[in-house]
Amino acid sequence: MARVATLTYLYSRAEFFARVPLPAEGAGNSSEVKHARMYPRPFRYHRAGSLSEAVNMLEQAGEDARLLAGGQSLIPLMKLRLASVAHLIDLNFIGGLSYAKEEDGVIRFGALTRHAEIEDSAAAQTVPILYDCAAGIADIQVRNRGTLGGSLAEADPSGDWAPCLLTLSTDVICLGPQGERVVPLAEFITDAYTTVLGPAELLREVVVRRPAPRSGGAYLALKRAAPVYATASAAVQLTLADDDTCLDAGIALGAIGLTPIKAIEAEAEFRGKQITEKTLESAAQAAMAAADPQSDKRGSAAYKRTLVGVLVRRAAEIALRRARGEKMEAGHIYA
Ligand SMILES: Cc1cc2nc3c(=O)[nH]c(=O)nc-3n(C[C@H](O)[C@H](O)[C@H](O)COP(=O)(O)OP(=O)(O)OC[C@H]3O[C@@H](n4cnc5c(N)ncnc54)[C@H](O)[C@@H]3O)c2cc1C
Repeated sequence: MARVATLTYLYSRAEFFARVPLPAEGAGNSSEVKHARMYPRPFRYHRAGSLSEAVNMLEQAGEDARLLAGGQSLIPLMKLRLASVAHLIDLNFIGGLSYAKEEDGVIRFGALTRHAEIEDSAAAQTVPILYDCAAGIADIQVRNRGTLGGSLAEADPSGDWAPCLLTLSTDVICLGPQGERVVPLAEFITDAYTTVLGPAELLREVVVRRPAPRSGGAYLALKRAAPVYATASAAVQLTLADDDTCLDAGIALGAIGLTPIKAIEAEAEFRGKQITEKTLESAAQAAMAAADPQSDKRGSAAYKRTLVGVLVRRAAEIALRRARGEKMEAGHIYA
């Protein structure tokens, strides 16, 4: 929890109103506000015209620069002064970054693809775990602004996208001063609120391999209300052989550790076997053992561990039925 505390230490020093300098004359696409009363600490606003310009801006501005995508995590943090940002680099005026398109067996999402766009995409119709996740995030206002890229870059331990996409074959394309690199999602998030992105690097695209035929998945998250993060979540993605033996299984857990957890032992309980009451139970038990929950206002660690077992079992049952071709609704569950 020490790392989470690093995020919150700023709060103790927060003043809710600040006097900040006036915009410099002829400041071009950067601006500063003077003598305005505002919640966040003073910052300079920059409007990037392209992703490579955003990288240059990040490089020049140094470590206190942050990119603005949907603003659904960053703006509240700035407003509460939990995030201290000297330079805000806005990606929203760069065209062509919001897409969900399929080509050559892969689905590509841009740096500004909003949750709502994924919810409405053709990809989400045929890969239902994407729909389960996108349609359940917060409320429509947040889904219309918030982005998949921002969610992965934020690496919030309670974020929905990372556990969902960990059950699919997902790569993150990063762009920095040295060019592009491809990072498997499993290696992208390294700790709570921490990714492999360097200070001048950004997430350019998320690439998801289309699941094989006879695949099905489900993402379930238990929440107290729409605009709060889940108490715990589970994603299960299965691929079946013609005789219904499980060829491949992906299981990931969210909100029950500092990072999303790939439940490898639970996956092994399904692979090469028929999915029966017995394998469902042993996978649920293995997932509970893999969880690393903390007690907090959402529930005790013991409650969350039990919840993980229930969610994995239910998600696996839905994934199995979907892999067999059944149409079923699933997603966020409200307690
Ligand atoms: C009321 C409310 C409820 C919410 N509930 C949920 C929920 O149930 N589940 C859930 O998953 N999320 C939830 N969220 C968060 C939401 O999904 C955000 O959209 C998401 O976490 C961040 O995406 P964003 O586009 O808004 O990013 P921003 O807030 O703009 O940015 C977040 C961070 O990522 C960085 N960043 C953004 N884009 C890039 C990029 N391309 N490359 C590198 N760094 C980048 C920013 O610099 C910043 O540090 C909620 C938010 C609110 C306000």
